Amino acid sequence: MPEAMPETMPETAPAPATLEIAQLGNPVLRQVAEPVQQIQDDAIQALIDQLLALLISSNGVGIAAPQVAASYRLLIVASRPNARYPNAPLMSPTVMINPQIVGHSSATVKDWEGCLSVPGIRGLIPRYQQIEVEYSDRSGQLIRQQLSGFVARIFQHELDHLDGLVFLDRLESLQEIITDQEYLSRVVNA
Ligand SMILES: [Zn+2]
Repeated sequence: MPEAMPETMPETAPAPATLEIAQLGNPVLRQVAEPVQQIQDDAIQALIDQLLALLISSNGVGIAAPQVAASYRLLIVASRPNARYPNAPLMSPTVMINPQIVGHSSATVKDWEGCLSVPGIRGLIPRYQQIEVEYSDRSGQLIRQQLSGFVARIFQHELDHLDGLVFLDRLESLQEIITDQEYLSRVVNA
């Protein structure tokens, strides 16, 4: 007869402390992500904590779950000035689950974007200037919010990840790609 499991034994293996970012070419970045059914699930809450930590360590301003090979409709918008985006506005990291755009301006604006999954380059990408979004927060509460400017841009970039798109798919011209180095010297420090 097998011995009973000791009560202190964890039911599942502990999640790895650091997650790897899926790079362009990984098929997970081209999948349409699944809606989150149980926001309170331990695995979902742990994933959120890991994504928040990863954003800080990688100097990101946003991240989507598929970027760590977790194909769920979950993203974080966390604009703050850092080495990759020195002029970004400062906000508290906002976890958005099953997010969607429910309204938007007719006007679009073009600005430079990069992506942790597409290292080394930036592209000039058109996005709606203002959007109205709906999502659940990590406690499950439904939130409706207006976003504009750079924060609206981050949301649209991350939402694309949930639909299997990357920013390169929205380039209007291949001539509107530059390297990180040129971006920092020509755009940020112009
Ligand atoms: Zn990205």
